[in-house]
Order: sequence, then C-alpha cells, then structure tokens
Amino acid sequence: MNPGQMTEFAVDDQIEELQGLKQEFLEEVKNCADLKDVDRVRTKYLSKKGLLQKRFSLLGQVSPDARPLLGKELNSLRSELSHQIQAATDRFQKVRMQHEKIDLTLPGFQQKWGRKHPITKTLDEIKDIFSRMGFTVEEGPEIENDYYNFEALNIPEGHPAREMQDSFYLAGGWVLRTQTSPVQIRVMESQSPPIRMIAPGRCYRKDTPDATHFPVFHQVEGLAVDTDLTFADLKGTISAFAKRLFGPDMRIRFRPSYFPFTEPSAEYDFSCIICKGKGCKACKGSGWLDIAGAGMVDPEVFKDVGYDPEKYTGFAWGMGVERIAMLKYGISDIRYFYENDLRFIEQS
Ligand SMILES: [Zn+2]
Repeated sequence: MNPGQMTEFAVDDQIEELQGLKQEFLEEVKNCADLKDVDRVRTKYLSKKGLLQKRFSLLGQVSPDARPLLGKELNSLRSELSHQIQAATDRFQKVRMQHEKIDLTLPGFQQKWGRKHPITKTLDEIKDIFSRMGFTVEEGPEIENDYYNFEALNIPEGHPAREMQDSFYLAGGWVLRTQTSPVQIRVMESQSPPIRMIAPGRCYRKDTPDATHFPVFHQVEGLAVDTDLTFADLKGTISAFAKRLFGPDMRIRFRPSYFPFTEPSAEYDFSCIICKGKGCKACKGSGWLDIAGAGMVDPEVFKDVGYDPEKYTGFAWGMGVERIAMLKYGISDIRYFYENDLRFIEQS
C-alpha cells in the first residue's frame, strides 16, 4: 500500500465518521428539552474544543491533495450544525414567549413626580410677568469686582451703604455680589437705550440666618431707560406686576427713601395679602407689607456708562424673591427654602 492510497482511504473514513457525528448531533438536538439543553449541545459540538472543531485539526494530517475535500466537508458540516442550533433556539424562544402571560390587572408602580422648588416657581412667574410687559431677562456673574458691585452703582469706598451690605470678599478684590444691580451696569455698558430689562439671580450677604434673613437669597432688579420715563411709569409698572402676581385687589404705596443708585428713591409696599389691608400679625397691624426699593436712576450713573443724562431718564427697582415667595405661598420662615426638607419641598 503506498502512502497516497492510504491517505485517500483515510479521508473516506473521516468523511464517513463525520456523517456519524452529524447523526449523533441531530439526535441530541431532537432530544433537547429547553434552551439550556440546546446551549449544552452547541458547546459540545461547536465550541473551540468541541467535537466538530477538533476534527479540523485532522486537516494537517492528510495529503495536500485530499485536504480540500475534507476541508469542504468540515465547513459544510459546521454550517449545518450551526443552522440546526439556531433553529432549535428560535423554537424554544417562541415557546417561552407564548407561555409568558402578562397580567394586565396587576396594579401599576406609581412614580414620584418631580417638582419645581418654590423659589424657582416664583422666579419663573416674575420673569413671565415682566416678559409680557416687554422686559428682557438678563444675567450676570455672581462673582463681581468692586467696580460693578459698588463703584458703578454710586457706592464709592467709605460710603455707608457698604457697611449696610456686609459682603463676602474673595481673594484678589473679588466679591460675591450683594445685589443683582451690577447686571444693570453691564447691560447699559453694552447696549444703547431704550432698555427694559430685569436681572433675576442669587445674591450673598453675611447675614446671620433667622426667619427673614439668609446669607444666600434671590433678587430681581428691574431697569427701564428711555427718553421720557417718569416716576409715574415706575409706579404703573410695579402696580401692574403686583396685580398680576397677587390679584386685582392688590394695592401699592410708595414711601420716600434713599438709595445711592436712584434719585429720588422710594420704598414700596404691597397691601397685606393675608388681611387684605385690615391689619394683622403679618403686617404688624398696618395693612401693608414692605417689599423693596425703587427710584429714578441717578444721572451720575448714566454719565458713568456713557448715556446722556439730559436726554435719557430711567427707573429701577428691586425685590426679594424669597419675600415674594413667602407671601405667595404663606411660608413663615426663609430658612425652609434652603434646608431641602422633602416634606417642605413636596408641598409645592
Ligand atoms: Zn395683614
């Protein structure tokens, strides 16, 4: 017997043996009871060390002439086996899906709703009201330099107003803004009149926390600059805002006051929303709640930003957002806003 004959004979042998392997495989697949069985058969025959994969190593032992024949047999068997495994897998998956029933009568899992913080809600409302009156919403940095936070607002070094606003100073002469008024200066520097803007945002002062003070708070400052604005425009604007926010019965009053940024200046009050002006504990019997300050922009401020004070007049006002939110939602202590107690926040 020469080696060639022997090899041919051996290849025929191998091919016959592969047919036997295929029969065994088909029998095992037929007997599979579930997906786990199918996977076990797949591993047994088709994994790297599986029965079929091992046969591929025989390719190196047959003559180069016979190699393509055996290779073709092995490849076709591998694809046949893979196909059978896939078919069996599909069959069992289909069965499993048919058996998994969905009980539509089960109660659902209630998800918790997210809510807006009362301060955010109040800010949204204030922004909405002024936007409808034609005011733009402007923002500025919370870390300011001395010029924008004090100097440009007519509060030079040594001015008593600096003492009134105990500030958080940072290294390098920076300060956490004590008011949102610096935004007004920034807007006037970069835009020409007419201007109608509000600047809502966070402010910082070294206050000891109590029922009405907190070191962080929110302000909305407003500014209008045009050729013939008067104090009547200021009163009309704040009155329209108050009625929109608290209802048509809301009345406002102005009392003369002093602010460095405005001349003349006034503090303004809202009629007490709790007693409707009759007098109660919240308004200390006066029927009025003080809200904040306002006034006509000081011509000195206009000069600093390059507006002609002979040509333009303007009015500005501020308000504390926490104060408004406390009145609107009947909250008695400003600290509730910052403690993030879910029992409080979930009520909003
Ligand atoms: Zn009252």
